[in-house]
Amino acid sequence: MSEVQLVDAHCHVHEYDEEEIRSFGNIRIAGVAMDLESSGVTLELAKKFGNIDPFVGLHPWNLHKNVDKLEQIKTLAVTSGVAGLGEVGVDVRFAKASFKEQLNIFKEICGLAVEHGLPLNVHALGGWDDVLNICVRLGVKSLLLHWYTGPVGLLKVIRDAGYFISINPAIVIQQKQMQILREADINVILTESDGPYSYRGLNLSPRSLPNLVQLISEVKNLTLEETSRIIYDNYLRFLQASR
Ligand SMILES: [Zn+2]
Repeated sequence: MSEVQLVDAHCHVHEYDEEEIRSFGNIRIAGVAMDLESSGVTLELAKKFGNIDPFVGLHPWNLHKNVDKLEQIKTLAVTSGVAGLGEVGVDVRFAKASFKEQLNIFKEICGLAVEHGLPLNVHALGGWDDVLNICVRLGVKSLLLHWYTGPVGLLKVIRDAGYFISINPAIVIQQKQMQILREADINVILTESDGPYSYRGLNLSPRSLPNLVQLISEVKNLTLEETSRIIYDNYLRFLQASR
């Protein structure tokens, strides 16, 4: 079998030790952060590992206790040669900050993305259409809706805007994602692990990616090589679209 380049477009590398990261091999990884501290750790890891693209951000789950750090995170984002902003976004179910406050901060982050040409790596549980509308309206060029489980009807909007979604290995137990995968154009699809998060007993990790790409190739009726090449091209477009 020829060499396939795997992509993990959303992974919390800051939660792994360096030995584990080394064990993932040459998988190209978008390392996303939760707050100021993990943003710094992600940037340091990216200096050591050539296969990590560092994203800095403030996760919606952490907004309520970190609003005072937002300015420092924004400064870090524009002075540290980041690949993009993430994990950022909104969460109607699990965030403690009000939805209104989450949306206001998200708009601020979109402004930064537009001004500095940075891709957004976004968590939007329950707020898919709000996030999408805001990004289109504010002129965000490059957006990944990570672990997309939103309405199938929005897939066309996502494609027309040149945005992306990522499919998570949890697809094997999450019917909604299988439906999304079937309906989505292959040119909007990225792969991710969200590792080391655990979902309903499933330990998510970049190690799950070979099986995930295999499954996508079967659903899309493509070879493994074609599938991984398309996903890698999609990833490069995601990184470069705003430049
Ligand atoms: Zn995440």
